[in-house]
Amino acid sequence: MTPIRQLPGIQPEIAIAAIPDDERVWVPQAPKVWFRPLLLNTVTGSWCNLLRVRQSGVLSRHIHPSWVTGYVIRGAWRYLEHDWVAREGSFVYEPPGEIHTLVVDEASGGDTEMITFFNIHGAMVYVDEAGQPTGYEDVFSKIDEDKAENHKLCTLPESSIATQTCIAAVPDLVANCRSAEMISRLAVRASAIPVTEAFET
Ligand code: FE
Repeated sequence: MTPIRQLPGIQPEIAIAAIPDDERVWVPQAPKVWFRPLLLNTVTGSWCNLLRVRQSGVLSRHIHPSWVTGYVIRGAWRYLEHDWVAREGSFVYEPPGEIHTLVVDEASGGDTEMITFFNIHGAMVYVDEAGQPTGYEDVFSKIDEDKAENHKLCTLPESSIATQTCIAAVPDLVANCRSAEMISRLAVRASAIPVTEAFET
């Protein structure tokens, strides 16, 4: 069989266990809230992650300038602003402009924890009760959060993460990492390189 010739500069595919065995891979985001990065795409400004919220956890009120999709893997949750509950197996679409506050509580079924896959485009802008911005998250802040958590686990050369330009940097980092999961995460980050740089090499 003739091997398929891939386009030059194409980025490596990703096929990893979404829910990690290693608890350390979950990045703390807020009290009782964690995210597990799966794809941090600096080309499109989007990211895919699992969100894990344990009961009484709250993801503060936020607005999405762009759209979000989600799939509930485990447990159930709700938005304070709506009367529906997202349960295991539910698909969720959050339209641009939507404002909501995610909670896992008795009213959402009393599960001890939920895990949901989210694909987020652009940013999450946190807002106060008057709808005024109080902070934001985007793919770059997620990378920074992930990087900060990485530094608790292993010593990584700062420049190798900050440049995000070369998959070849990963093997050098592997020797410094204790967890195979970390390698996957670094590969994901390194693969999110600007298209222009990919085709210059
Ligand atoms: Fe949201």
